[in-house]
Amino acid sequence: MPIQLFDSLERKLKPLAPAHPDGVFRFYNCGPTVYAPAHIGNFRTFVVNDVLRRLLELEFGADRVKHVRNLTDVDDRTIGQTQKEKRPLAEITQKWTDKFHADCDALNCLRPHVEPTATGHIREQVDMIEVLMEKGNAYRAPDGSVYFKIASFPAYGALSRIKERELKVTNSAFDADHKDDIGDFALWKAYKPEEDGDVQWPGPRTAAAGRPGWHIECSAMIKKHLGETIDLHTGGVDLLFPHHENEIAQSQCCNGTTFARHWYHSEHLLVDGTTMSKSKGNYYTLGDLVEKGYSPMAVRYALLSGHPRKQLNFTLDSMHAAGSALATLRAFRTTLHASGVTHDVFAPVFAALQDDLNTPAALGALFSIINRKSVEASAASFDRVLLAFGLKLDAPAPRANVPADILALAEKRWVAKQAKDFATADALRQELAAAGWSMLDRKTDYKLEPLKKV
Ligand code: AMP
Ligand code: ZN
Repeated sequence: MPIQLFDSLERKLKPLAPAHPDGVFRFYNCGPTVYAPAHIGNFRTFVVNDVLRRLLELEFGADRVKHVRNLTDVDDRTIGQTQKEKRPLAEITQKWTDKFHADCDALNCLRPHVEPTATGHIREQVDMIEVLMEKGNAYRAPDGSVYFKIASFPAYGALSRIKERELKVTNSAFDADHKDDIGDFALWKAYKPEEDGDVQWPGPRTAAAGRPGWHIECSAMIKKHLGETIDLHTGGVDLLFPHHENEIAQSQCCNGTTFARHWYHSEHLLVDGTTMSKSKGNYYTLGDLVEKGYSPMAVRYALLSGHPRKQLNFTLDSMHAAGSALATLRAFRTTLHASGVTHDVFAPVFAALQDDLNTPAALGALFSIINRKSVEASAASFDRVLLAFGLKLDAPAPRANVPADILALAEKRWVAKQAKDFATADALRQELAAAGWSMLDRKTDYKLEPLKKV
């Protein structure tokens, strides 16, 4: 069965497949804005996209997927931060890029094949703006900025189904003074000495010096690194409008061809019923949770516990549940033999992932297999499941002075208990006791102690 994914443009499930004759699947995911730490809401989007990347690689082959994810290192927010801190833009964006990379590594997210920056692609953005101006899709405003003329692109609004009335409300906060139409958006922003500090580049022909608008960077980087038509474009749901709508307008008017064959948007992570966001200040970073004693893998697990196209409420309880689920998976792993089982008992797990990336159904299927009294599975097939989810299981915590056979019995009993197979768990407890050990169950793990001799 091919991977099926909901397409936000056509509003239906569609199979994923590479269209290019070279057979390489072209995948673009809008990346972070590097002016502050990414929060775990951002990481929900990146972890979901990481599972998608892993599935694509399993389906088409690791060398048949090209994944590009950008770094937004110049925009209103990054410039605002340099003004606040009175430090150079590059210093700030480098600091948060490094932090982002460290968090991605801790969460076991694969690095994209190319990670282009907006400041590294000014030329490409200017080139594209010049083409749009030549073709009559963009115009110079009196202050030297350049705007995209949405009236020149009849398909504008197809992705978001935005009506003209809504457009006026949504865009009214933007500087309407220089535009022909309130819906027009900036491709190039003329330099403003009081706001922009020393951040400026020479602009497109006839325009003033300044900096690119946010949307054009993705169009330009996609064209350069993936080509004019890509197979899949993704991001969080907040990017659907105006960011992705604007990307389509810019790219299709410039290149004259379909921009993305498939659009996928994942939903937000909430806290107390509202979106987790930097501007609201209601967020957790990965570091906050690690400080509370949760592992990055438990964070990853918790972020995958809800359907990616549904909002997910973050709670510390879900972190506890994730911790104990991981302990169960780890204990289960120790009960498996390397190979020797030919059929894939985990096929329902992959079927759920391939069906619109239904991670909760896939985890449900996984646990219902694990919870069977006896599971015929090889370690190799289980590892393939872990690989798809991107879950790395720590080795069982080293336990000083506990012999390996006792630890193996204890792990087996933990799995049985999680599976609510209390008869087996009790029998194993007796076996442990006969060998001179007591096992004390805690929430997400257990303690082993030698029985006192009487
Ligand atoms: P930003 O760094 O703000 O450009 O956002 C990076 C990515 O995180 C984008 O794909 C956003 O759509 C996504 N995002 C922002 N807030 C959340 C949230 N609360 N839950 C899930 N994804 C989010
Ligand atoms: Zn983008």
